[in-house]
Amino acid sequence: MRTTFQTEFLDTKVPQDSRIEELKYWCVRFHELKLTPLYRGSSLGNLSFRLKDGNNSFIITASELKLKDNLTANMFVTVHSCDLKRGISFASGIKEPSSESVLHYEIYRKREDVGAIFHGHSDIILSRGDKLNIPSTRTEDEPASVALAESVLDILGNESFLIMRNHGFLSLGRNMKEAGEQAVMQISIAK
Ligand SMILES: [Zn+2]
Repeated sequence: MRTTFQTEFLDTKVPQDSRIEELKYWCVRFHELKLTPLYRGSSLGNLSFRLKDGNNSFIITASELKLKDNLTANMFVTVHSCDLKRGISFASGIKEPSSESVLHYEIYRKREDVGAIFHGHSDIILSRGDKLNIPSTRTEDEPASVALAESVLDILGNESFLIMRNHGFLSLGRNMKEAGEQAVMQISIAK
């Protein structure tokens, strides 16, 4: 299996969907709460929502965005599907989709109830995870790897808030409001 992913662009259409405004709002909130901190000039974390029930395609933040506080429509990418075995994401847009797109896709595929996936980084949540009984992946896996996606799927069950060991958290909701408010609640409990 490949450990690095590639993108195959089906076209260069920038996603147009009224819900992107809501996704932008949550990107700003995550930025304000320092859940998408800067690392080597790019902000960590990635946020997505499912396009429609019964289908696993989604809109996600692009890879290597500087800050997530002032995003424009071309900084989002539609991911139609992913091939985990071949390590390919099939996308529409003009920027690379987040490197964790395959992870998002695998969660949408496994959990029909999930309509939004927000991934952030928070040392506070990671350090308090055990105390707060937040389920965590058993191993520490390289970001954006097949191994990481598999470790998350191993513990996914019906959970809605998970820690990827020594990496970050995943907040899942039926919609963006649920995923976002849950992350806000977790960070306030952890503080
Ligand atoms: Zn991450």
